Amino acid sequence: MTRMLCDDTRWVCENHPDQPWTGNHACQCGGAGAPCPKCNKPGDGDIPQLPRGFRNMFEKRNRERR
Ligand SMILES: [Zn+2]
Ligand SMILES: [Zn+2]
Repeated sequence: MTRMLCDDTRWVCENHPDQPWTGNHACQCGGAGAPCPKCNKPGDGDIPQLPRGFRNMFEKRNRERR
């Protein structure tokens, strides 16, 4: 099998980094998503590229930390 970790969605499951977080083969464990270490590496201080509609989730998290 040569499938990419994230199944080309750029996101993997946080609990199972070898499973895609979204898409047809998404991990069903209900865990949080994490950016794919192979194709979605953010630079220092950058937010990783998000799938549509997930930006709010990150903004909310940042607010809760303050
Ligand atoms: Zn999982
Ligand atoms: Zn990837």
